[in-house]
Amino acid sequence: MSVAALEHCDLLIVGAGPAGMAAAVAAAPSGASIVVIDDNPAPGGQIWRDGPGATLPTAARKLREALARHANIRVCSGTRIVAVSAHHELLLEDAERATRMHWKKLILCTGARELLLPFPGWTLPGVTGAGGLQALIKAGMPVEGERIVIAGSGPLLLAAAATARAAGAKVLCIAEQASFASVVGFGASLLRWPGKAVQAVTLADPQYRTSSRIVSVQGATQVESVRLRQGDREIEMACARVACGFGLTPNTQLGQMLGCALTPAGFGVQAITVDTRQATSVPDIYAAGECTGFGGSERALAQGTIAGYAAVGNERAAKAHEAERARWNAFAARLHRSFALAPDIRQMPQPDTLVCRCEDVPLSALSNCSGWTDAKLHRRCGMGACQGRVCGDAAQFLFGWTPPAPRPPLSPVRIATLAGLAGNEEARQ
Ligand SMILES: Cc1cc2nc3c(=O)[nH]c(=O)nc-3n(C[C@H](O)[C@H](O)[C@H](O)COP(=O)(O)OP(=O)(O)OC[C@H]3O[C@@H](n4cnc5c(N)ncnc54)[C@H](O)[C@@H]3O)c2cc1C
Repeated sequence: MSVAALEHCDLLIVGAGPAGMAAAVAAAPSGASIVVIDDNPAPGGQIWRDGPGATLPTAARKLREALARHANIRVCSGTRIVAVSAHHELLLEDAERATRMHWKKLILCTGARELLLPFPGWTLPGVTGAGGLQALIKAGMPVEGERIVIAGSGPLLLAAAATARAAGAKVLCIAEQASFASVVGFGASLLRWPGKAVQAVTLADPQYRTSSRIVSVQGATQVESVRLRQGDREIEMACARVACGFGLTPNTQLGQMLGCALTPAGFGVQAITVDTRQATSVPDIYAAGECTGFGGSERALAQGTIAGYAAVGNERAAKAHEAERARWNAFAARLHRSFALAPDIRQMPQPDTLVCRCEDVPLSALSNCSGWTDAKLHRRCGMGACQGRVCGDAAQFLFGWTPPAPRPPLSPVRIATLAGLAGNEEARQ
């Protein structure tokens, strides 16, 4: 059996979003050998996702150029971390091969994913996440002339609406669950972050409605209409697509697998615990960006810069960015307060609404379960293709269940990759 090739680096960074890119650029002048791994085809992460339908902002292009300028940074796009193969070693897979990467220092910049919550009709084709809609459009999906409704909570709804509109879609409504007072209060607070205030003005949309909830989506084989509750009245709109986002959940799986401690980060979700140097509870492992709690790309950039400097021992330069991080941490705290999900969002699913869409498990089948493991073992919730990535987050929000640390592999993986890992075990024995 062939053993997966073993490579070495001083600093391994997982995730090439704003946090990972900033970490690599900060660490590069040390001369350390740096490897940046990301499963997307190009660096940029969620916010700067590239594709035929995307236009990259200057900040993203500059960071990409900076990565390319440093000969000691190697970017491995289209590559996933699939398992922890040994102490200070991770198993990676790309389209062609598997590699074991031995590292001296590791920075986790694995970002966040959308919190998708179940409601009647959410499994119909044409219903996506709000960020999911953005990703599809950036990847080239045509939406010109399509009638789209966007619902959920937070500024990502406005960003998704702007992307859809720029691609020629007709955005009928942006239904925000937060109250008018909360949204106005958030808008007023943006004077402390003038760049964000300008962004808010450019994203302002006449179809934005506060105190609005999604009730259901109707359609025979795909989305035909959506029902919304706005204050006391219910309205129905004919549309072709519905995009929903209820906030973000930090991507902590790899951190959990490596033994990093977690901290509550609002809405019942958890994030990787870090100290002032972005160090996790495990020696030599740092974390930055939205895997440590969500709060926007500016916070991710500041945290990534600090983590990059700290990982190569440049404590002075790391300290110089603490005030900037504090400024964006305050923004994140304000964001969480203003767009906190109202308790009645838990009432969206009906007894027959599927919570686990991979294994067809309805809400009613879960109501008597004592926790995530019980639901998994006795109802098959989370046992399907997504391995609980969608329904696990939903169950955490709906029932307060905390899923345990994931077991390897982190994502579906080729047999040959696992065989290479087994070969590694045999070689060690
Ligand atoms: C779907 C979505 C859309 C968003 N759109 C916007 C937007 O339009 N505007 C905005 O202001 N904010 C947006 N956000 C918020 C945005 O994520 C952040 O503000 C910013 O991108 C965070 O940067 P980051 O570096 O922490 O993480 P990210 O940008 O999320 O980068 C993390 C990277 O790590 C990679 N990764 C994770 N795990 C692995 C693994 N095991 N192996 C290999 N690679 C891995 C991911 O593919 C990703 O590229 C979006 C978030 C999501 C989830």
